[in-house]
Amino acid sequence: MLNIVLFGPPGAGKGTQAAKLIEKYQLVHISTGDLFRMHIKEQTELGKRVKDLLDNGILVPDSVTIDMLEEEVQKNPDAKGIIFDGFPRTVPQAEALDAFLSSKNSGIKTVLQLDVNEEELKRRIAERRKISGRADDDQDKLVKRIDEYFNKTVHVLPYYQGQNKLTVVNGIGQIEDIFGQLCSSIDTE
Ligand code: ADP
Repeated sequence: MLNIVLFGPPGAGKGTQAAKLIEKYQLVHISTGDLFRMHIKEQTELGKRVKDLLDNGILVPDSVTIDMLEEEVQKNPDAKGIIFDGFPRTVPQAEALDAFLSSKNSGIKTVLQLDVNEEELKRRIAERRKISGRADDDQDKLVKRIDEYFNKTVHVLPYYQGQNKLTVVNGIGQIEDIFGQLCSSIDTE
């Protein structure tokens, strides 16, 4: 299976690139952020539990996130591969994902990191706020999300580096050029 982790801070362009990758490689896209937002919209029990956390840009506890993720993977038994977008965001999540996939005789093939500096991230999210309607796209919340990324999520990178699976791609530039670099990295794996 072609399982890929798409990694990067809020506003790095993960959603845009994920959409292009799933089309080209016929993959299933699992975005934990999208799943949480769907639960909130549908006012499920899980949605009610996580709403305040999302609204404030705080990470949802690992156990809750991991359970939801595994359930979503189980719904796609015939997938040729999965793009994990927004997951894992902590080392325990990365370990849980490895354990879960290996119990299915599968694993992560490659981790693609979209590298974008903080100044550019803030500029992009300010733009996105105008159209996204996302409560967590306002300035204070954004600062919190970027903090969560630089305090907690970056620790996932050495985890995958240690497994020799990490590729860093410059996330600033033309969408097509970035896409080309992601594809060539997948094709050489
Ligand atoms: P971003 O655009 O900031 O990368 P996402 O759409 O991926 O945002 O996630 C939005 C929010 O959902 C996060 O701020 C966090 O509250 C929650 N969330 C998403 N994925 C995870 C995860 N893997 N672990 C914990 N919380 C998560």
